Amino acid sequence: MEIQRDLHTFLNERNGVVDTVKDFKEIKIKDLNKSFGANQVLHDFNLNVEKGEFVTLLGPSGCGKSTTLHCLAGLVPIDSGEIYIDNECIDDGTKGIPPEKRGFGLVFQNYALFPHLSVFNNIAFGLQIKRLSKNAIKEKVQNALKMVRLEGYEDKYPRQLSGGEQQRVAIARCIVMEPMLMMLDEPLSNLDAKLRIEMRYELKTLHEKLHIASIYVTHDQQEALALSDRIVVMKDGKIQQIGPPEEIYCQPSNLFVADFMGFRNIWPANIKEISSENEVVINVSGFELTIKNGSIKKADYLNNLEIGAPVFTAVRPEDIQVGNGPVNSLRCKSEVVEYLGEIRHIGALINEDVRIDLRTGEAGEEIKSDGIIEVWIPPGKILLFSQEGDRIL
Ligand code: ADP
Ligand code: MG
Repeated sequence: MEIQRDLHTFLNERNGVVDTVKDFKEIKIKDLNKSFGANQVLHDFNLNVEKGEFVTLLGPSGCGKSTTLHCLAGLVPIDSGEIYIDNECIDDGTKGIPPEKRGFGLVFQNYALFPHLSVFNNIAFGLQIKRLSKNAIKEKVQNALKMVRLEGYEDKYPRQLSGGEQQRVAIARCIVMEPMLMMLDEPLSNLDAKLRIEMRYELKTLHEKLHIASIYVTHDQQEALALSDRIVVMKDGKIQQIGPPEEIYCQPSNLFVADFMGFRNIWPANIKEISSENEVVINVSGFELTIKNGSIKKADYLNNLEIGAPVFTAVRPEDIQVGNGPVNSLRCKSEVVEYLGEIRHIGALINEDVRIDLRTGEAGEEIKSDGIIEVWIPPGKILLFSQEGDRIL
């Protein structure tokens, strides 16, 4: 088969370096497990990345994001599981194709440039090993420099460049090899906030142009939302949810994902009444809330839920409304008002036990700390989770 032959050439004869992005459909990680000593870092990790797709691994520090990349790149041996490029198994824990033959490019947080080589030679390094002609190398390096907007920087040395420029060189060094998969491990986290946003935009533009399948690692939810076709949320080496940014942001499948994606107002509560398939009344500490959010995926679960069952809520601070509402009205006492420019963040107490976080636009102008505020929560904006943290409504 055509694809198989190409793949064979790619993997065995050309040292993992290709001239064009190969015609593969997907890279598949199947039931991957990895431990370091007694510490199991990855548990039955499953993920497919399609050609041209941008997938982000998102999770707190230590959850196994880098380890996933290292396993995929062949930099650390896997304990069990399989890695496929289409139907070709490139690693099953007993035999693995060495990293340089996998044809995957890596970009690290710390750039890892050669300090004694010029920008040109840093980028040309892999092509020189591949013994391309001088002219071909020059053309490819120029092209890569253009892609990362560093034309004219050929003769500079890494120490003469800013952090952002160094990272662009590292990216150029990766794309010049035309890898079938590009892996980026927190590439922006050493940059200051403004530059990070600029570079994020550039990475997105680059991906729109080149469509290299990419796995991007970050602990920054904004970065994940802005860049990805799909996000993989991880916790303790386990995948919590995989989906497009909007789904992860709006429909978190458990309390961990909700919390990570900016839901607050996570209150313990009990079921008071289940009035219909998708409407529930709960008792929080000292007050009631009606929830009707139209997401009835978990209707089966609701059927089995008993009155009095313990649950958790989650509501985004920006979804809480100031003023008198038709339902779920609450009086609270503001403790802290933080002015954040376009919005204000307000921390308030509903009672001794329950704190509420809200964000307001102009409506917040009048609010002083230590004042009484009327707020209400639209029933469609409250998410409901079981005591174990699984999404109910
Ligand atoms: P992340 O990239 O999400 O921050 P890592 O994949 O780097 O997380 O690490 C996950 C866990 O694996 C951590 O507990 C870390 O200490 C451990 N770990 C990573 N690499 C090694 C290693 N080479 N030897 C031992 N433990 C490791
Ligand atoms: Mg890491």
